[in-house]
Amino acid sequence: MYTVASAAEALDRIAPLKTQMDWDNSGLLVGDPSREITKILVALDATLSVIREAEALGAELIVTHHPIIFHPIKSLLAGTPPYEAASRGIAVYSAHTCYDMAAGGVNDALADALGLQNRVPLWEEHPGQEGGRTLGFAGNLPCPMSREEFSGWVEEALGQRPGFVRYLPDAGPEIIRRVAVCGGAGTDCLKDAKPLGCEAYITGDVRHHQYLEAAQMGLLLMDAGHFATENVAMPRLREQLAKALPGVEVLLASC
Ligand SMILES: [Zn+2]
Repeated sequence: MYTVASAAEALDRIAPLKTQMDWDNSGLLVGDPSREITKILVALDATLSVIREAEALGAELIVTHHPIIFHPIKSLLAGTPPYEAASRGIAVYSAHTCYDMAAGGVNDALADALGLQNRVPLWEEHPGQEGGRTLGFAGNLPCPMSREEFSGWVEEALGQRPGFVRYLPDAGPEIIRRVAVCGGAGTDCLKDAKPLGCEAYITGDVRHHQYLEAAQMGLLLMDAGHFATENVAMPRLREQLAKALPGVEVLLASC
């Protein structure tokens, strides 16, 4: 028999909470740790539709990447996700920056989807030393590609329609061989891509001036969407949980 607490322990092994950023709020955020679980629903966000889906499926626990409670709250009202989950007796665990950095986490899944080889971390907490936290990857594409071929490659890898990826058409070199990735809002690591020999950097939540900044560095900056660059990891989180909790049905949210 597994409980919400045993699922939380399994998640702490998959994405250790001690590695989360100090501003983050990963962990068990809603629910009763002693409640027995038979079904888990995995989603990028605990939206109201995900909570309704969990209720319809009979899932006692929702596991998300983005924290269901991030900023401290001063009220807990009907119609908000934390209230709606708690009032249905559904627990919510969020593995946010700890899953970004985990081996087999968000950035591993993103780099795998793009077929990146000979990977090195994009950002290291203690450069050159073992054991520190790392974020994102730089790696080689399976073959050199033009900018157009590369944008199509990214769209296909992330299951998105043609034209989904945004970039300045004439930024960076014409042929892309080595790229950096950071799922979600990763433009803070923009400066780390060029020294690692990358011609392109893929992340989400890119602002206009950052495309220009990257172009000045000779780098092709691509916005492949905050959702798309992180949701690519949710099937893997589902698999990791299913393996850690045999007998518990672990499902991927449909929305
Ligand atoms: Zn995110």
